Amino acid sequence: MDNSWEIEIKGIGLLKISGELIEQLKAYQQLSTGQLESGGVLIGSFLNSGGYLIINKFTPPQNNDKQGRYLFYRSNEHNKVVKIIWEKSSHISTYVGLWHTHAEPIPSYSSQDKKDWNDTLNQSEYEGNKLFFFIVGQRHIRCWMGIKKMFRNKIELIGEIHV
Ligand SMILES: [Zn+2]
Repeated sequence: MDNSWEIEIKGIGLLKISGELIEQLKAYQQLSTGQLESGGVLIGSFLNSGGYLIINKFTPPQNNDKQGRYLFYRSNEHNKVVKIIWEKSSHISTYVGLWHTHAEPIPSYSSQDKKDWNDTLNQSEYEGNKLFFFIVGQRHIRCWMGIKKMFRNKIELIGEIHV
């Protein structure tokens, strides 16, 4: 059964998030009070037919990250893991965005998140001009799309699922 999460992005095409990835991200939901904020990068591949992009891999928290109940600092180790995955996949699996968790049922981004996303859009290397940002909440996962623009990046909520 294909239990992937599909989001039709107007003018762009179909974004698919694999069911397996959703299950893996759910393991980091901050459901108990002791569970710390987690995060990492999203990895996917662009599709020639039947869609635009599938997001199906991620990096879990790394040793040099800093994790708190309401804090997550992503270290450079994630970039190294992405590079290894990219090489191993013959340059098909590539960096497409970021994910992190929030200790709230329906997550919304903080000003720090927005700054991080804008910095990422402006400074990191990726294919095209778009990145995707997931926040894994206690009840919903939400997906924002960031588009790099000359003057002001655009960040918009494009979908959410109950998990
Ligand atoms: Zn956040």
